[in-house]
Amino acid sequence: MRKILVSTCLLGQSVVGYRVRYNDGDVPCADPRFTRWRQEGRFVHICPEMSGGLPTPRPRAHVAGDRVFTEIGTDVTAEYERGAQAALALVNRHGIKLAILKQGSPSCGSRVIFSAYFKEQMPGQGRTAALLTANGVKIFDENQLDALEHELARNDA
Ligand code: SF4
Repeated sequence: MRKILVSTCLLGQSVVGYRVRYNDGDVPCADPRFTRWRQEGRFVHICPEMSGGLPTPRPRAHVAGDRVFTEIGTDVTAEYERGAQAALALVNRHGIKLAILKQGSPSCGSRVIFSAYFKEQMPGQGRTAALLTANGVKIFDENQLDALEHELARNDA
């Protein structure tokens, strides 16, 4: 059975017992397939920003070129990089090749991220999503569970 790395905020406080988003919230995924995969024991979860040493709540952050800054101008690139490395260590430890990561985050976003330059969502990858992709992990977001379901149906060794 293939394990799946999951953004902790998609599980939510009712499952993990704490909140991890910048605004002290969570965004639990209510899709029954997500619940089933969790109950099957497939999930290994991480919040890269907290693993990188950032607190909850925390100022919102934006990608600006190859750096990451909070909305009050603090450079948190090192924390984001540490979080990405922690996620990579986790997938390597568990032999994980699939992930469900929260879309839009400067850490977990796999297709779009909020840009400090343009003040809106722009195509791009967060630090963790980019590092995992470069290391062969196939990333889906919370709205791409159909595709992940097909992936699991094709090859669920
Ligand atoms: Fe969720 Fe990822 Fe942001 Fe943590 S870093 S709150 S897991 S989107």
